[in-house]
Amino acid sequence: MSTEGSTQKGQLITLNDDGTLTVPDNPMVVVIEGDGIGPDISRAAVKVFDSAVAKAYGGQRKVQWQEALAGEKAFAETGQWLPEETLQNLRQCIVGIKGPLTTPVGGGIRSLNVTLRQVLDLYACVRPVRYYKGVPAPVRFPEKVDMVVFRENTEDVYAGIEWPANSPEANQLVSYIGEHLNREIRPGSAIGIKPMSRFASQRLVRRAIRYALDQGYQNVTLVHKGNIMKYTEGAFRQWGYELAAEEFAEQTISEADVYEKHGGKQPQGRVVIKDRIADMMFQQALLRPDEYDVLAMPNLNGDYLSDALAAQVGGLGMAPGANIGDEVAVFEATHGTAPKYAGQDKVNPSSLILSGAMMFDYMGWQEVGDLIRTALEATVSAGTVTYDLARQMDGAEEVKCSEFAQAIVERMA
Ligand code: NAP
Repeated sequence: MSTEGSTQKGQLITLNDDGTLTVPDNPMVVVIEGDGIGPDISRAAVKVFDSAVAKAYGGQRKVQWQEALAGEKAFAETGQWLPEETLQNLRQCIVGIKGPLTTPVGGGIRSLNVTLRQVLDLYACVRPVRYYKGVPAPVRFPEKVDMVVFRENTEDVYAGIEWPANSPEANQLVSYIGEHLNREIRPGSAIGIKPMSRFASQRLVRRAIRYALDQGYQNVTLVHKGNIMKYTEGAFRQWGYELAAEEFAEQTISEADVYEKHGGKQPQGRVVIKDRIADMMFQQALLRPDEYDVLAMPNLNGDYLSDALAAQVGGLGMAPGANIGDEVAVFEATHGTAPKYAGQDKVNPSSLILSGAMMFDYMGWQEVGDLIRTALEATVSAGTVTYDLARQMDGAEEVKCSEFAQAIVERMA
């Protein structure tokens, strides 16, 4: 990828004690182009980003892209899938954006994405879901969906603590639990552990509530399966309410208090904290989507619900996302590397472009994020789309990946 002339002039974004960022006019931002279709969509996205920044600030600001290696390109050049230098770049620059990465088979790494999240402690997976006019959607009123999923990224059954059936470790645990904890598990069972802590649950909920307050959303819903998994998912719910009461007493109110103390009417200026059992939340998302804004949830619930919501607005292939920690934030396309389309300049770059719009919001450059979203929506609703959307729309003009980016740029002018 060409990031020509970018290394010398950039300045670092800095993190303030209160968690806010100070962003210079020429910030250094890491870009990892990704594998498969990654180079195509990264090239298209960077073109859109640079044009939007130039347009929004009349040339006064410019991102200095710092290309970092990960995935196949990194392996070919350095022999490592995720070089230490890339991690250092991300720690230094604080903000980065990445294309999809191939999961190496048998390389001793479960997944590069999971490794990146763990090493940099990117504990919140944030996935905004809203409808873009013109996108073919499977529901009647997709425009009623405007939700932002905050998924806990480090714990739950995804922690990877599991042993196969009949392994010595699983057998040992089955015996131990039988002998010491008075619980019987069928001999020969596989065992997985579901750790969930107050610390990790609360830092996720804290971030979700802050986001709702900053963005002017009306409610935060804790999505859990606490009716069955009382001490893990049930505790997530409990810890979430406790955090809201302890740290955001003046800015939030529980749904119970809205009914008990305010006759069911949400007091002005207060974000309502509510909770829903996960299976019910899937129903609510379809039946009453406009009653939900920010959703905070444990890892597995978040994995399922974020994809289901994205599908609801027809945007699985264009859903944006980010993995955010207290120090570093990495914005990313949510789809994979689609290797069969690699190098064909064919696929839809919207997921990466919209992730970039989120990134600019995060940097405090909202004008850029808004410009990108507006121009992308105008392009899609005019019927200028890549093959994936064209095959579902009547009368659409199918364009290449780079042409789609160019069409977005032209709509900003
Ligand atoms: P995938 O790469 O997402 O591709 C599956 C299908 O989704 C494609 O064949 C294509 O459908 C459609 N698609 C994906 N991206 C698209 C785009 N930008 N525009 C239009 N259509 C798009 O999933 P996969 O084949 O399961 O995974 C391939 C590799 O990606 C694996 O190595 C996997 O580990 C990795 N992966 C990485 C990430 C990540 O880095 N975040 C996430 C998921 C998977 P059609 O064939 O119908 O056109």
